[in-house]
Amino acid sequence: MSKLALLGGDKALAQDYSEFFNWPIVTPEMEQGVLEVLRSGNMSGTDITRQFERKFAQWQGTEYALAHNTGTAALLAAMWACGLGHGDELISPSITYWASCIQALSLGASVVFADILPETLNVDPDDLEQRITERTKAVMVVHYVAMPADMDRIMAIARKHGLKVIEDVSHAHGALYKGQKVGTLGDVAAMSLMSGKSLAIGEGGILCTNDRTLYERALLWGHYARHGEIETEELRQAAGLPWGGYKNRMHQLSSIVGLHQVDKYDKEMAEIDRSMNYFWDQLDGVPGLDSHRPTDPGTTKGGWYACKGIYKSEELGGLSVSRFCEAVRAEGVGGFSPGCNKALHLHPLMHTVDIYGVGRPSSIANLPIGVDCRQGPGSLPVSEAVQERVYGIPWFKRFDKEVIEAHAAAVRKVVEHHADLLSGDPRTPVEGKLGLSRRRS
Ligand SMILES: *Cc1c(COP(=O)(O)O)cnc(C)c1O
Repeated sequence: MSKLALLGGDKALAQDYSEFFNWPIVTPEMEQGVLEVLRSGNMSGTDITRQFERKFAQWQGTEYALAHNTGTAALLAAMWACGLGHGDELISPSITYWASCIQALSLGASVVFADILPETLNVDPDDLEQRITERTKAVMVVHYVAMPADMDRIMAIARKHGLKVIEDVSHAHGALYKGQKVGTLGDVAAMSLMSGKSLAIGEGGILCTNDRTLYERALLWGHYARHGEIETEELRQAAGLPWGGYKNRMHQLSSIVGLHQVDKYDKEMAEIDRSMNYFWDQLDGVPGLDSHRPTDPGTTKGGWYACKGIYKSEELGGLSVSRFCEAVRAEGVGGFSPGCNKALHLHPLMHTVDIYGVGRPSSIANLPIGVDCRQGPGSLPVSEAVQERVYGIPWFKRFDKEVIEAHAAAVRKVVEHHADLLSGDPRTPVEGKLGLSRRRS
């Protein structure tokens, strides 16, 4: 009999380690703060939210921060603030959560997807540049699964072509790119702060920028009650009603949680970073597995949201990533799930669906007749092949040498005995996920 737990052997990890993965960490001060807001009868006010915005802007290192009720709303506001509209194109990676780009359709814009690099899983700057047309208005940069994107190259390309750059920081709060915080490098950043993310405040999102006009446009779009803050004359003339027709105000229970979370996030992030790097150090040189870590010493992964590893099946006799992950999970190691976000460019919403009833698919509804930016199978080879090359890993929130070493040893056990798994490998193709599942580790 094989030593592997999946094949009837003993489990490498028999203990319950859930305390190392619990998230978010709730403190008595947070609980007290929530009760105070709840009892104050001011859940829909903006006093706590404004305090949160000031604290967040200071932490992020931008002039302005505007709180939103979701990251999705903050990203849409950022798109409109950048001038994305009817007939324009937004370039986005296809391997991301849908809220990086789908909202663009509601502005009458089209989404053009660029391929990713297999090592970083972030947008390939060369591919991005080649997809620019005279209709391109903005680029959505996603620091995917906490890996900072190649901002130097992306900004140079964007500046050369006069494009706005929006950073989606939903996976990478606090991560550094060559010593600078992501979210301060493009024209505007927007991010989710929902409870599964590494900076978790409940449902919520925030938009950050140093550009006063972009900030005021985001106010105009979805914060009618704060139009008094708008100074630009041209925007003031029709203020008072939200131009987007949206109400994006943050719930003050989220804001108070946010105030406490920002205070402790740097400390939590440092412990996560130390733990995750230690985990990968234990697996250095193990066949089949590569870490997904920055190579530049000044670049970090912040809170390591939805962290992944790179899988090289060819080094493990062709063992499929799904079978490999199943075997690791059987050893008692959580978090190992094959694949990542499903490519967006092949979804029917990007091909056939006429959301607004105009008689053309919404993905191309406002492009000039004869222009079709829809991308079929084969158009983004790296994105289309990525599911078999990545897997989730445990997201350690607390540093404990022995616990991390035990997890890594369990992974190495599967690698050492991988040959036992080859014969029964059903090679189940990995579908990818349209939403990242809410996992506990
Ligand atoms: C979570 C997420 C969003 C959306 O944020 P919500 O707060 O859930 O609306 C946007 N982009 C990415 C990359 C995300 O992971």
